[in-house]
Amino acid sequence: MRNIKDKHITILGAVRSGIAAAKLAKKLDAIPFVSDYSAKLNSISELDELGIEYEVGVHSEKIFNSDFIITSPGVPSNASVILEAQSKGIKIISEIEFASWFCKGNIIAITGSNGKTTTTTLCTHTLNYCGVKTYAAGNIGVAFSEVVLDVKENEYVALEVSSFQLDFIDSFKPKYSVVLNITPDHLDRYDNDFSKYANSKIKINKNQNNGDYFIYNIDDSYLSKLDITNGEKIELSLNPLLNGTFVSYGIFYFKRSEKVESVCNISELKIKGEHNQYNAMSVIAVAKLIGVENWKIAEALSSFTGVEHRLELVRTLNGIDFINDSKATNVDSVWYALRSFQNPIRLILGGKDKGNDYSRIKELVSQNVKKIYAIGSSADTISKYFKSVVEVEKIDSFEEVIKKAYREAVDGELVLLSPACASFDMFESYEERGKEFKQIVMQLIK
Ligand code: ADP
Repeated sequence: MRNIKDKHITILGAVRSGIAAAKLAKKLDAIPFVSDYSAKLNSISELDELGIEYEVGVHSEKIFNSDFIITSPGVPSNASVILEAQSKGIKIISEIEFASWFCKGNIIAITGSNGKTTTTTLCTHTLNYCGVKTYAAGNIGVAFSEVVLDVKENEYVALEVSSFQLDFIDSFKPKYSVVLNITPDHLDRYDNDFSKYANSKIKINKNQNNGDYFIYNIDDSYLSKLDITNGEKIELSLNPLLNGTFVSYGIFYFKRSEKVESVCNISELKIKGEHNQYNAMSVIAVAKLIGVENWKIAEALSSFTGVEHRLELVRTLNGIDFINDSKATNVDSVWYALRSFQNPIRLILGGKDKGNDYSRIKELVSQNVKKIYAIGSSADTISKYFKSVVEVEKIDSFEEVIKKAYREAVDGELVLLSPACASFDMFESYEERGKEFKQIVMQLIK
């Protein structure tokens, strides 16, 4: 545990993780100072209560009067304040790096372009179910700094880690690191350079060494080519493999040091789709490496019903399933969603487009989708792209979209909200979009 007593620490961004870092610093007798450029905030009561100094609407020179700076995901790595601090030789770290200095327990760090929240939640559920005390933290609503001091030596923390958090690590060293997949997303933050983005995710392995595990999906075209040298490599695949979790004839197996064990039947999983098989495989790997018994892992996995807004079954009405996948904010997530169901799909697609390339789902749409209901600011683009593939209709009102899809659907079909886009053109967040979808669906009349 590092000693930060009397250190001056600047925290950039009064977001949840930033405030949590400031509180942790204060608790450990350091002198935190929070600076947030957003002028929307007036005062921050949590900081007032603790007598933590802060400024809003500006980044003053006081920022640079610090031993090191903790930056938040919202601050771009090429922001002038970051560049200036770097030119002055001030160390800049992320909140997970900071919190990790005080972690007595074992870190399970989970990253990837898609599946982080599901896997972090599933991992926490599984390990706790099996009697292994595990905290969930990171980009999942509870900052690492909020829980780190509670984690005891023989306990675990499942940490959802974004590439932004990994950009500013230094000594962050997970015992288990999981990389689920790497696909282009957030490329705007990395000068549209895919290798820069991918490299930031791989930093998760930077400080791992003997006794640590790097768990990764070798079916992923980018990850399969990686040359990882730190820690033991544990692979995940839908095909039989040498060292790790794999699938054969509908069963999850774990193989290590030539010993193969069957852990669980895939049909026992309640969360559907191939993507969730990867998520489950990574959790099986972690649980096996910790030493949990196979039957307990199987029981735990089969008792997990999923995370809100991720392929969530809202209701079945007149034989029509309504699925809320509002969290699918990129094309890749929709690809997995479309592969998760056998029945014809009425797909609600659209929102704020981040420069989507829809070619990835074109074939699946032509096979599995009966009709696309295009919404939001990307409705025109979607309509143009898909009209030669399938029937597309643009509809302005979110309520009308759902009602229309319901009116047109027949027994055995499903209505899927899997928008491939961010929600900010119509909603505050993907959560609000998903909640509204559920509310409207619950009001539909039989
Ligand atoms: P994240 O936290 O990385 O954004 P989530 O667990 O919230 O990921 O899932 C977001 C969406 O990504 C889900 O709606 C699902 O469609 C898709 N998804 C989940 N797991 C995977 C995976 N392993 N591979 C690809 N897509 C996935």
